[in-house]
Amino acid sequence: MQRITILGATGSIGMSTLDVIERHPDRYSVYALTAYRKVDELADLCRRFRPQVAVVGTAAQTAELNQLLRAADLPTEVTYGESALCNVAAADDCDTVMAAIVGAAGLAPTLAAARAGKKILLANKEALVMSGHLFMDAVHVSGATLLPVDSEHNAIFQCLPTNYAERNQQSAGHGVAKILLTASGGPFRSRDIDTFSSITPEEAVSHPNWVMGRKISVDSATMMNKGLEVIEAHWLFGLPGPRIEVVIHPQSVIHSMVSYVDGSILAQLGNPDMRVPIAHALAYPERISSGVESVDLTKIVQLAFFQPDHARFPCLKLAYDALDMGGIVPAGLNAANEIAVDAFLNRKIRFNEIYSLIDRVMNKIVPKEIGSIEELIEEDKRIRKLTISFIPS
Ligand code: NAD
Ligand code: MG
Repeated sequence: MQRITILGATGSIGMSTLDVIERHPDRYSVYALTAYRKVDELADLCRRFRPQVAVVGTAAQTAELNQLLRAADLPTEVTYGESALCNVAAADDCDTVMAAIVGAAGLAPTLAAARAGKKILLANKEALVMSGHLFMDAVHVSGATLLPVDSEHNAIFQCLPTNYAERNQQSAGHGVAKILLTASGGPFRSRDIDTFSSITPEEAVSHPNWVMGRKISVDSATMMNKGLEVIEAHWLFGLPGPRIEVVIHPQSVIHSMVSYVDGSILAQLGNPDMRVPIAHALAYPERISSGVESVDLTKIVQLAFFQPDHARFPCLKLAYDALDMGGIVPAGLNAANEIAVDAFLNRKIRFNEIYSLIDRVMNKIVPKEIGSIEELIEEDKRIRKLTISFIPS
């Protein structure tokens, strides 16, 4: 029986994870569930999954959830805040952590899971983009198992030789030439660029192929999501930026590929439903049903592939540049992006200003190496403040 903590249980990935877990009560039990805002939804999940611990954002929410759980006669312990998130991620009673908080808020608990040597199912790409080698070092020192949930990285993991993928690094002789990271191109792949300044948050969050949280949906619309994924792939699989290639594939049937020196390309196919990579990571190295049908190949009319249009999606190049510069720069890119997306969703800036705001911040970042998580968190705060100072009030 694997005992699981789900960080971000009320989100899109959290709910998909619980859907898979519920199909396999003989294999998985829930140790802890966490949520930031939706206390009612978390109370419902506690009734369904009976976790030992539930974590919320504030003391007031703790009181509210306690009341709901006592009324349902549930013994779940309720706590709140970042240290509580770290505790449930590192607890002895937990074997596996689904890291599905969105953004930098997930860094501390995901890192706590890494330091405690847990099996980590990584959805929270921002945590890895920010902390890069510090996170990977923590994984290697503790002997934690890091399994990618992001659909592209999960596909790549499946297409790499087992001993390459598991060690999260390239070693000689495997013949990997490059990674081909597929991207749908999002909702604005063929929209007239001259109308980008009038794109609304509602338009930006409605993705053609995937149902996801608001932040990652906007990232998909700007293709910053793919940029963050290039950096994520670098840390997970040890290849430099120029050997991680983005390919536009609007149908989202192939979730990424690995190209080998002998001319072979291996791909993973599946319906666009996150329960597929979640089930893969949960059961690895075994396989379990995910609740998703496999692709009906006879119904596929077309599989198309294009090069990305960098004039349309300038954020992608920013991410390659950040990876190339290294040190603090990817964390700066991530911080500026989180602030910019939030400002766009709150209608403070226009869609095309997400890029110009991040670009302006990037020009102010002095590249330097980061020696510790404490230093990283200080820099992250500083860059967020700088980004906010550039937003018209
Ligand atoms: P979401 O917005 O649906 O859910 C986010 C979760 O994080 C919620 O449970 C929320 O309560 C929690 N949360 C938000 N802010 C928090 C804070 N400050 N402190 C503690 N908890 C907080 O997001 P999502 O779409 O499920 O994405 C989660 C992560 O997975 C992101 O990093 C995203 O990039 C990644 N991811 C998502 C998908 C997808 O299909 N949704 C695919 C690949 C990767
Ligand atoms: Mg992805």
